[in-house]
Amino acid sequence: MNIDGVLPFTRFLLEKAVSDGGVAIDATSGNGHDTLFLAKLVGPAGKVYSIDIQKAAILATKDRLLAATKQNLAGRVQLIQDSHEQVLSYLEGGQTVNGAVFNLGYLPGSDKTITTTPQSTITAVKNIFSVLEPEGIIVLVVYHGHDEGKVERDALLEFVRKLPQEEAHVLEYRFTNQRNSPPFVIAVEKRA
Ligand code: SAM
Repeated sequence: MNIDGVLPFTRFLLEKAVSDGGVAIDATSGNGHDTLFLAKLVGPAGKVYSIDIQKAAILATKDRLLAATKQNLAGRVQLIQDSHEQVLSYLEGGQTVNGAVFNLGYLPGSDKTITTTPQSTITAVKNIFSVLEPEGIIVLVVYHGHDEGKVERDALLEFVRKLPQEEAHVLEYRFTNQRNSPPFVIAVEKRA
């Protein structure tokens, strides 16, 4: 397949925005896949804030980082058990952010009632956008196969489609002929 799927496209965007020494946020740590990816991108001088509301997700992310111990990644990642709209309170004073990623929905194989919500997601996006560097990117992977996911998708699309084009480039990336509501990407880049 030559067209990037949702995961490679997400990573392609994050690679554009986040480089050595940069600052990144994983706004839904989950099992830590994105945190690990971002920790490699920022390098030893960079910083990743990885936040999740569930203790199980924080522990799974910690385990994943420790398993990659040869690269000593854990030292550049701050793991935070809290809701993502609070993430700015953990940043060092005056710190700006190069990239952020949200994988919406619930933790696979876990309690499906603990899922991201339109209110907290949109507030978190607004907050992170306020400290985003010019040309920084927020990438959201939207899972809308479940009922709450459809509500979140609609609220999020309504919000991002109204962001002024003088302030942000907003993109949707999706396969339009796939069955069963496949996940899709929303990306918001702060204009230089
Ligand atoms: N990116 C993850 C990975 O690489 O494995 C998968 C994330 S999973 C689809 C969604 C996560 O969002 C769950 O772990 C859930 O606990 C978390 N979550 C739900 N509401 C949240 C909130 N308000 N703030 C932060 N995390 C939240």
